[in-house]
Amino acid sequence: MSCNHHPSAQALIQYAAGNVAGLQRLMIKLHCKVCSGCQSAVDQFEEIGGATLDNLSDTPVAADSFAQIMSKIHSMDEAVSVADEQPYAQMIEKILTRGVSDKLNWHWRTKRFAEIILANEASGEEAKLIYFKKGMRVPQHTHTDKEYTLVLKGAFADDSGEYRRGDYVCKSALDEHAPRATSDCICLAITTSPLKFTGTFGPVLNWFLN
Ligand SMILES: [Zn+2]
Repeated sequence: MSCNHHPSAQALIQYAAGNVAGLQRLMIKLHCKVCSGCQSAVDQFEEIGGATLDNLSDTPVAADSFAQIMSKIHSMDEAVSVADEQPYAQMIEKILTRGVSDKLNWHWRTKRFAEIILANEASGEEAKLIYFKKGMRVPQHTHTDKEYTLVLKGAFADDSGEYRRGDYVCKSALDEHAPRATSDCICLAITTSPLKFTGTFGPVLNWFLN
């Protein structure tokens, strides 16, 4: 299967270096399962990382090098840590690889939109499975920070294009969109802070949901 939307090189480097945790790690791992290009990039980053570590043992380094590297990694903005992936990993992988989504305990919010909250942290980070029936449109919104989405089954579209099974999408505060399901669609979504609705009913939705 070929994917059209991928994690950034920066996100893949952090993933290869083991600096991405929880469901965000699972999201990239599952994308790589169905995207040979990203998997091969990760393999190369891991090789480069291993070779660099081998060379480091022979090279004198400044006393604060490690602190500098860690500080750089922490300042990169792609990493999100939302909860432990383990309770959900197999279930999510089954949806992506085999299309199996039966027996899930969906909470129906409307006739065409359901969700399962996987993690909801005090920091504002939230991870959930979302299910849109074909034709469902999410009201126009922007993001106060980042929104990461992995399409597990079906497809959705916005003004930037269509996102199909395996596609990895990252939207930021600069992106305003109104996604609509082009077929029955299940996604894993991680937001680092609440959405901000901007359409006609935006103020009401923001009050109601946040
Ligand atoms: Zn990819």
